[in-house]
Amino acid sequence: MTEEPFAADYIIINTCGFIEAAKRESINTILELAEVKNQSSQKKIIVTGCLAQRYHDELAKEIPEVDLVIGIAKEFNIAEMIRLDNLRDGEPAAPPQDFTSYPERVLPNLPYAYLQVADGCDNRCSYCAIPIIRGKFRSKPIEKVIEEAHWLDEQGIKEINIIAQDTGRYGYDLYGRSRFTELLSLLTGFKNIKWIRLLYLQPYFVNDELIDAVKGNQLILSYLDIPIQHASPKTLRAMNRHGAGSDYLALIAWLRRVIPDIVLRTSIIVGFPGESPTDFDELTQFIEKANFDYLGIFEYSPEDGTPAAKLSGRVAEKIIKGRYHQLTALQDSINQRRNEDRIGKIYDVLIEREIDSKEGLFEGRAWWQAPEVDGYTYITGDSQGSIKPGQIIKARFDEFDGCDFHGRIASGLGK
Ligand code: SF4
Repeated sequence: MTEEPFAADYIIINTCGFIEAAKRESINTILELAEVKNQSSQKKIIVTGCLAQRYHDELAKEIPEVDLVIGIAKEFNIAEMIRLDNLRDGEPAAPPQDFTSYPERVLPNLPYAYLQVADGCDNRCSYCAIPIIRGKFRSKPIEKVIEEAHWLDEQGIKEINIIAQDTGRYGYDLYGRSRFTELLSLLTGFKNIKWIRLLYLQPYFVNDELIDAVKGNQLILSYLDIPIQHASPKTLRAMNRHGAGSDYLALIAWLRRVIPDIVLRTSIIVGFPGESPTDFDELTQFIEKANFDYLGIFEYSPEDGTPAAKLSGRVAEKIIKGRYHQLTALQDSINQRRNEDRIGKIYDVLIEREIDSKEGLFEGRAWWQAPEVDGYTYITGDSQGSIKPGQIIKARFDEFDGCDFHGRIASGLGK
């Protein structure tokens, strides 16, 4: 395994393709790596993931440097094809009907991993192409999820991030009811795993039972990612979602009461068709009041095959950008206040890697920073040479820059 494309014989590009920005990023990556291949024709390029599933034929036709386009339906065949050095061009196939496989993975050299408990989605948010790309919601059998968690534990993983498109629904397809909280209670007895993080919980599964499960398992972090998407009831209805900003504010207030140190992340979309200035004001006021720890803001893009793409009342691109920047600035000011609060305090930090051995500089994440999205914490002050990647240490937080923090090792090592 190498992350250096010039050193690789096979370059595998895992793409995302659910919104315009993601498609652009995926295509730019393919083109950049096609350029690497053009400098050394021995290499082979394999494109997989959602963009490959969604635009199989177009990619195969438009980018001749790509040797194989293979959608999510057959991505587990890639290793075998490479072993046989036979990249048969995969016919586009529908997303699989079940999720029973337990593929052993090659893990990157990092102390965290994702544990996907289900794939696909049975919701029909009107803007969303994910059900078209990834198919119906289907869960991994509970014993397979537990087995995979223990396998990750044996590999030395310290943090698992539980994911699915609709995590709280886990089990519905297999067992006729959600078994998510039961699953959470079974995720124990590990040698290495110290942190379990729950991502992508739709708001209607955030209830007493879930909170009891979070509180009942010490490994589960007080961190919830709950996508809300909007606050205006009119826009939410047009999105084929439920509720209103006031419901979500009540949910947030309750969560902060029952778990006082809870960290909340959400995502929202600006510029959905028909989003009037009043709807946007409602969203802005909601963001102000909700005071999220982390907020992902997405600009609406019409996606092929989705009902929203046919709606009238498209918001002009310039207005969408303006709304995006306005909310980004608002959330920046919220983050500034929240980050200032963290200065001078001590938190557990999972060390991911050493940046500079002479300086004793390490990169890690506080427990309230999810991988890849919430920034990093840089740690200095390891005069004993005692810090190793994969350790959880206690660090005193000194300063921040955007969502990254700088801190020093505090007394002794953590867990
Ligand atoms: S719940 Fe998420 S994945 Fe499912 S349709 Fe809605 S936005 Fe898409």
